[in-house]
Amino acid sequence: EAKSAGRSVIRFHDSEVQSVLAQRFRLESQLRQAVERQELSLAYQKQVGLDGGATGVEALLRWQHPEQGNIPPSEFIPIAESNGLIVPLGLWVLETACQQLALWQSMPETQHMRVSVNVSSKQFYQPDFVESVVRALQQAKSAPTGLCIEVTESMVLDDLDNAMAKMQALRVYGIQISMDDFGTGYSSMAYLSRLPFDEVKIDKSFVQMADTRENSNEWIIIETIITMAHKLNMHVVAEGIETLRQHELLAAMGCDYFQGFYFSRPVDLDTFNHSLQSMR
Ligand code: C2E
Ligand code: MG
Ligand code: MG
Ligand code: MG
Repeated sequence: EAKSAGRSVIRFHDSEVQSVLAQRFRLESQLRQAVERQELSLAYQKQVGLDGGATGVEALLRWQHPEQGNIPPSEFIPIAESNGLIVPLGLWVLETACQQLALWQSMPETQHMRVSVNVSSKQFYQPDFVESVVRALQQAKSAPTGLCIEVTESMVLDDLDNAMAKMQALRVYGIQISMDDFGTGYSSMAYLSRLPFDEVKIDKSFVQMADTRENSNEWIIIETIITMAHKLNMHVVAEGIETLRQHELLAAMGCDYFQGFYFSRPVDLDTFNHSLQSMR
């Protein structure tokens, strides 16, 4: 048994487990060098308002591995979370996103654009998290009101009082806060009402279930989330919109902003800036 073999000797009898671990170990050491080797980049996915115009973007981390190609965040973020690398990686994401935000804010046509950045639990609970966000904004000379920090319910529920203090500190600077993936966790309405969110993002799994059957339970839940969020002065983003029908449905339910493959996939910076130009 692995446990009785002691701390340093762990035996696996399953070769599949072994190769998964080997891949994980490889990725872990390569991830450490990814920033210096400039293998990381941000992809941008636009968010649109009811009139179809871009109101902002979500910045999504990408890792172009030299041999393995594009490795999805679902694979490398958990690794970075478990070994603490997420802290410097997350800082790189914030700094890069704030520099881009400053550029968009400096041009009249994109002045209004908001940039949303995902943060992980380990990063959020660093004692100097709020300071690091403010420093990134100041160094880039970007206006804090253009930045939105996306957190998840489970993150916030880990240490509610601490999370509340951090959120309030962020808001003092005018930084916005979004609850990502709403509907997938405990989705406690009571917590939502107590925490100072500016925005709720309805998770894509919900959005995609909504158009299966008219007046299904999913419809009712989504409508309830939207009504509640509006009464709490929060706006609502639907993520994972893939079809016209999903867009129309969510718009009819009163959703304020939309994001998904139906409007655009996450794209690299040049492609994104190009698409902004061709819209004008
Ligand atoms: P998320 O924050 O919920 O981001 C939305 C995810 O949904 C993205 O996946 C995006 O590509 C995908 N998506 C957007 N529209 C559609 C659609 O219409 N249909 C479908 N099926 N998917 C859609 P991605 O880029 O693979 O990121 C996955 C997750 O990784 C993110 O989920 C977020 O939790 C995490 N992540 C990404 N970048 C960062 C980062 O910089 N820092 C941290 N801590 N986490 C990140
Ligand atoms: Mg997100
Ligand atoms: Mg999400
Ligand atoms: Mg997520």
